[in-house]
Amino acid sequence: MVRHPQPSSTRRTDGTSPVRLCVGCRQRASVGELSRVVASDGRLVVDERRRLPGRGAWLHPHPDCLSKAERRRAFPRALRVRGVLDTARVRHYVERLTESKAGVELPRPERTRKQVDPS
Ligand SMILES: [Zn+2]
Repeated sequence: MVRHPQPSSTRRTDGTSPVRLCVGCRQRASVGELSRVVASDGRLVVDERRRLPGRGAWLHPHPDCLSKAERRRAFPRALRVRGVLDTARVRHYVERLTESKAGVELPRPERTRKQVDPS
């Protein structure tokens, strides 16, 4: 019994994740770097599991990209929604994420050191 090797030369998606455009800075990035955002009842929500149905917009979870997208009104355009979308929840998500990242990079200053008078 002879086994033929799998023809792998036609596959082009070996290990690389798909690429999307950030609606904020308009840069391409792999979906692993971006957050998926969907519209729900006139609000933007972050689709953390990337499973919500419907159109999604992709955004770097960064305050700068969010601000740019807001200024350009990129979300209603990308999601084909009329009117204004409330970005409060996305902003909250982005800020929390940015804070936690900064917390990892910067060591916290010790503030609970006891001042003992050695007299
Ligand atoms: Zn971006």
